[in-house]
Amino acid sequence: MSLDEYRRKRRFDSTPEPSGDKTSLHRRRSLVYVIQKHRASRLHYDLRLEWGGVLLSWAIPKGPSLDPSVKRLAMQVEDHPVEYAGFEGVIPPDEYGGGTVMVWDKGTWAPESEDVDVALQKGELKFTLHGRKLKGSWVLVRTRGFGRKAARSSWLLIKHRDRYASSKDITQSRPDSAITHRLLADIAREEGGDIAATASADPAAGKRRARRR
Ligand code: MN
Repeated sequence: MSLDEYRRKRRFDSTPEPSGDKTSLHRRRSLVYVIQKHRASRLHYDLRLEWGGVLLSWAIPKGPSLDPSVKRLAMQVEDHPVEYAGFEGVIPPDEYGGGTVMVWDKGTWAPESEDVDVALQKGELKFTLHGRKLKGSWVLVRTRGFGRKAARSSWLLIKHRDRYASSKDITQSRPDSAITHRLLADIAREEGGDIAATASADPAAGKRRARRR
């Protein structure tokens, strides 16, 4: 776990994202969980789980599903600094990941697997989410992707059966920011991003709401 790749990809004099210099390695009482909705070249949801002083990160093209029969592809990406969990705003278009970022869900998480490092190594991490939107038991399972690099980085995010399981599409029913309640187009408008590109990532009903504001 290291922030080298994260820092190598970014120019901190140009992007408003945190550099991670302030990331503390001391142990916290509870572990940070966040999902950021990110309209970059493509829309995706970034799941981040605090572990070992960084945020382990997976990019989920279709976002999470509450339906235990649905497996969502989650590509593991570079570790992010813990303070990234609070980042909502616009990354300049020429920068890595350029586009609009929303804190779609946040809270804490707890491992269900006995040894997280062993679970990550084995490719099956069971955990409980205590978010504003996502709750209950989940699993990340490493899967065979396409190509040599994908083989290590392709995972599936699956909801376990519990009282929080549902067939409701939570990405559509609760599209707004967990911290500011803005839609993606609102964030783009207020922070100098590409409104047209982000509006297509909000649900149709949400777009109407955003226009009225
Ligand atoms: Mn992203």
